[in-house]
Parts: sequence; structure tokens; C-alpha cells
Amino acid sequence: MKLLLLRPYYGITVHSDTHGDLGVSELSPNVFPDLPLVYAATIASQNKSVELDIIDANAEKLTPEETKKRIRNNYDHIVLKASAPTIKCDIEFAKYFKMRFPSAKIALAGHIAKILKQWIEKNISQIDEVIEIPIDVYVDKLVNRRNNTIQINEFPSPDYSLFPYNKYEHDSGNLLAFVNMSRGCAMGCNYCPYASFYGKRFEVRSPEKVIKDIEGILNLGISTIQFRDQYFTFNRKNVMDLCNMIINQKLEFNWICETRLESLDIQLIDLMVESGLKMVCFGIESASEEILKSNNRLPGNMEKIQELIEYLRKKQVKTLAFYIIGFPDDTWDTIKETYNLAIRLKSDYVKFAIYVPCVFTNNGDHVTTEINPDLFMPFENTMTINSSKHLTHGELEYLLNQLTITYHMQMGNLRYSYEYCFINQINYKYVVKKLKEKLENKTLI
Ligand code: SF4
Repeated sequence: MKLLLLRPYYGITVHSDTHGDLGVSELSPNVFPDLPLVYAATIASQNKSVELDIIDANAEKLTPEETKKRIRNNYDHIVLKASAPTIKCDIEFAKYFKMRFPSAKIALAGHIAKILKQWIEKNISQIDEVIEIPIDVYVDKLVNRRNNTIQINEFPSPDYSLFPYNKYEHDSGNLLAFVNMSRGCAMGCNYCPYASFYGKRFEVRSPEKVIKDIEGILNLGISTIQFRDQYFTFNRKNVMDLCNMIINQKLEFNWICETRLESLDIQLIDLMVESGLKMVCFGIESASEEILKSNNRLPGNMEKIQELIEYLRKKQVKTLAFYIIGFPDDTWDTIKETYNLAIRLKSDYVKFAIYVPCVFTNNGDHVTTEINPDLFMPFENTMTINSSKHLTHGELEYLLNQLTITYHMQMGNLRYSYEYCFINQINYKYVVKKLKEKLENKTLI
């Protein structure tokens, strides 16, 4: 079988496995790997009957024109990893592939493909298959003819040498790789795209296997590893075992994780720091307990969270807190409370995002049957529908931009606020405007 795995690029960086595999567009020179795609490629590369080509155009900044020139083979199967901000382009690119390779099976992967499955099957005849499962699980079924579903503990170690890994950079300038010690989250917050894509299944990879994954990555000269687990410290024992193995084997690298902050304690933080922890990312979401509860989110203990952030700062671990504005019941006042909470918690970085409704419930059922690509704002990270009962989309956009700038100003980080937040926002808007024009004029693909 001649197989092409493609992650496309249209002029803006997309971190395609973030936000529950929907992808997030960003005006950033740094591009991150797509971990399910790395696993998929590794699985396919181990089957000798597969002639595999991988193009990570997103990493290499290859436009569709440049990508077309790179393609040499006459493929049997082409899998395109789609993202929500670029879904319209992804569909057009898939049509191009069908025209060029009429006998090849054209498949669209990613969370957005799952969301739009019914619409694509009805409207886009050039796409032969819309993949509803994670791309790594799909490729395993495809090449290994497996009937049951592969578990992450059975995955081979991710082989980054198949990818242009020297392009995957962390903001610090170090090379960056992603790994998983677990996948999924049992908490089931009803706005969470991870929960709607992976379901409530919580899968675990053994610490011994994760250590092998890390060794392979370090052998390539990559020095920063991000655990892409949604709730990294859910299984405390596994994390402690992993940290002890890293320390005992003297593996030296910086690492980042995302977790629920309340699951940490002093003993665990000390061990994590000793093994190389440099940054923790966590969701706070809203200051309103009512809003959190109505979204099936367990409110956290803010006093404890504040103490943990202070302790992490003392240990020189950076903190990044996520907040959501524009929940259906959010008002100007509740958003102000959320902002005040952010100021009180004083994480090193914050990321405000506009609430995006999960168009799937956690059971995987459609909330609405009217789902089509027009619902997703091209090259942006919001939807065209506004779920807020009290604020317009324009008001939420204003708040999103201003709160980010003001937060860093108020924290005394004036230069970061100006260069990273303010200038970046202006440039981002300009690039998105230009790309939208090209999309409308059909000159992108
Ligand atoms: S705790 Fe985080 S990862 Fe888990 S369901 Fe809630 S938002 Fe998603």
C-alpha cells in the first residue's frame, strides 16, 4: 500500500492536535508536532508492506503549491489531517487530491472531520472517508488490519526522525517533542473538546514505556518534552514512578505538563521539579462557581491553587492558566470577576479564550444537526455562532484582546504585553484578513 500522511499549511501556523484535536491557529514562527500524527506515522512505518510518505507542510511552511510539487507517488491512500481553523481549505485540498489521484482513497482525519462527518458525506463526493477516530488508531486498523482498538500502551515509541523535528520549537528556542503518558479525561466538563473527541475513556501508558519514548527523543537532541496528557497527574503513582526513573537514569531535559492544579502537592512538585519540570499549564476557566457547575466542571479551591502557584514560582516553574470568557451565562460582571481572579492568582502567563460550544455532547451525539464548515471561523479559533446570552461576539473579541494585554501590563510585564500581545494581535488580524481574501478568491489551493 502506498500511503501519504499529510498535515497541510495555508499561511498560518496551526497547532493541530491542541484544543481536543480541533487545532488552534496562531501567528507564531514556532510550530509544534501533532502527536497522534507522529504515532500514526510510526505505526505505519513499522509495517513493511506500507510505502509511506509523510509531509508535515505545517512544520516546513510548505504552501499548497509547494506541497503539490513535493508529491511524487501515485498513492493508494491519502490521509489529510484537518483542523477547525482551516477546514474549508482542507476540504478544497482533499478535492484537489481526488482530481489528481482518482483511484486513491482520500480520507479526512481530525476532530473537525468527525464533527462534520454527516455534512461532508452528503456534500463532498471527492472525500471517500471521514475518519471519526483518532488518526493513530485509524492508521493502525488500516495497515495492521486490526479489528479491536489499539491502546496507547501498545503504541510504539513515537519516531520523530520520520518528521522534520528540527522545526518543532518551544518558545524558549529549544527543540520540542510531545509524548503521552495518558490520554482522555474522566472529568467530562461539557465544553471540553478532549472529552468530546476521546470520550470519557482514560488510557494509560506505563512509565517504563514512557521512559523509552523519552530516551528515543533525547537521542535526537531534543531537549524539551511536553506531556500532552489532559490530566497529567490524575494517576499520582505513575507520575512519581516516572519522575523517579528520570532521576535514577539521569535523563536531563526540561518538561512541561498540563493538569488540574489542585491534584499537586508539595511532595509531588518537589519530585517533578527534581526530574526537570519547568512549566505547568492548567485550566481555571471562570471565577463563577455557578457557571462552572452548570458546565459540569468541579470548581477548584482557589486558596489552595494560589498557594500552589506561589510554591511553583519559588521552585522556578512557570505557570500558564487558561480562562474562558463568554460562557452562555457570562455577563460583564462575571467576566470582570474572572479577570480579578486571574490577577489574584498571578500565574506567569494567561490565556483567555472565547467559549466554544461542544457541537458534540460527551456521548458523541450531535447537539444540533445544522453543523457545517461555515460555523468555523476561517484561520481563527472561534465559531461564527455566539453562545453568550449577554454579550455580542464583538464584545467578547474586544475583551479577549484587552484582557490579555492588560493582564501582562498589570503584572508589570510591559514589554511582553506590547510585543507578544499587542503587536501580535495586530499582525494576526492582518494575516487572517489576507488569507480570508485568498480563500474567497479561491487562490489558496
Ligand atoms: S478537567 Fe480539563 S481535560 Fe478534563 S474534561 Fe475538564 S476541561 Fe477537559
